[in-house]
Amino acid sequence: MKAKSMNDLLRTLPAVDALLNSDGGVQLVAQFGHDLARDALRAALDDIRARIRAGDVVAVDDETVLSRAHEQLQGDLQPTLRPVINATGVIIHTNLGRAPLSDDALEAMRAVGGQYNTLEFDLTSGKRGSRLLHASAALQAITGAEAALVVNNNASALVLLLSALAQGRECVISRGQLVEIGGGFRVPDVMAQSGVQLVEVGTTNRTRAADYEQAVGEATALLMRAHASNFKVVGFTEQASLADMADIAHRHGIHLVDDLGSGALLDTATFGLDHEPTVQESLAAGADLVAFSGDKLLGGPQAGILVGKRALIDQLKRHPLARAVRADKLALAALMATLNHYRKGEALEKIPVWQMIARPLDDIRHTAESWAQQVGGTTVAGESTVGGGSLPGATLPTVLLALDVAHADDFAAKLRGCEAAIITRIADGRVLLDPRTVLPRQEPILLQHLHDVLQNHLDC
Ligand SMILES: *Cc1c(COP(=O)(O)O)cnc(C)c1O
Repeated sequence: MKAKSMNDLLRTLPAVDALLNSDGGVQLVAQFGHDLARDALRAALDDIRARIRAGDVVAVDDETVLSRAHEQLQGDLQPTLRPVINATGVIIHTNLGRAPLSDDALEAMRAVGGQYNTLEFDLTSGKRGSRLLHASAALQAITGAEAALVVNNNASALVLLLSALAQGRECVISRGQLVEIGGGFRVPDVMAQSGVQLVEVGTTNRTRAADYEQAVGEATALLMRAHASNFKVVGFTEQASLADMADIAHRHGIHLVDDLGSGALLDTATFGLDHEPTVQESLAAGADLVAFSGDKLLGGPQAGILVGKRALIDQLKRHPLARAVRADKLALAALMATLNHYRKGEALEKIPVWQMIARPLDDIRHTAESWAQQVGGTTVAGESTVGGGSLPGATLPTVLLALDVAHADDFAAKLRGCEAAIITRIADGRVLLDPRTVLPRQEPILLQHLHDVLQNHLDC
């Protein structure tokens, strides 16, 4: 480009103030605020100027500058935490936020979060109440425990219980249960962090009751069982029963704690899965404290739940760490609503993770076939998994929509780039979508995006 025409072009660029006062500029300010709008317009103009100087052919009209600024601001303000469509078939997907909440749980969060509430207020006396009361009655009613305590998550529940009950003393655990749960959270490290001396017994594959018995001494405070939530030892294996462990602990005047991890309240075997140990079973077998998550198989919000002997729960409540790991009001609201589904016997109908586990295969097949009809692709038999540190290796039969595309990785990336990001799996060069984990209300937008990408070759 000749110098003269380049300078002419640069001169025709609108000024920031003029743009801000134009109709489009006023709209931009209304949407994003004055300062962000001004900065984005400046940046768009700088960019256009640089490209003109580089000899590019660029449009310089108001519309172009305004729409660039708009696009930039929309991208900048897009929350990094946003909803996605989980078509992976992994029900409790740790990277995708674990359990989606029920409508009642969401409504409870909205009601409590948007208004003042009884978090620490007793309506009868008009005085200060305790946040530790919330959800306790429901947890006791469902599990039969004497007492319950809700904290921030299960990891903090473990740190609290170890610190409060075994600091400076010993905790005995099987070598087969020294697990890493994920994100570097390892049982031995948690013990060390809590000032507890770890005493390992047995071997990787076999730990007998006698191994625990022999390890108990003057300094022992606890026997602990940790659920091997994300791996499975098969073959020549043995693990002392919880009842035997409880018997040993109680004969020596110490306590048995059970880190159940997922914390099922219903029997997964009903749905053709392996039996995941339930909270009720652990208590019935004699565990003095059982710890589990709120957002795994329970299907509620992030929380760490401790149930068991009243004297021990009271001891935990009084420990200074209890304050540091306390549950927040939104989680408590959602947890109480979720627990009510269990009390009313409607968990399978109302709690998303249980709806997904219980969803009949014919229903899934019907959905997959209807997707194939609407957007193309074929249906194939496959497997869904429960995930979330429960039932390692266990699967549920499902029917998948399979898309034969030229470049599966690129195609999957395109789907992730959709406005409602779609997360899929890839196998044998095909992109697979499992209807089991797609929420009914997400189906229309999922199909719209698939249609756009497949039929119209659009980028989302
Ligand atoms: C998931 C899990 C935890 C950690 O629970 P969070 O709620 O994620 O903190 C601890 N122990 C076991 C056995 C688990 O499976």
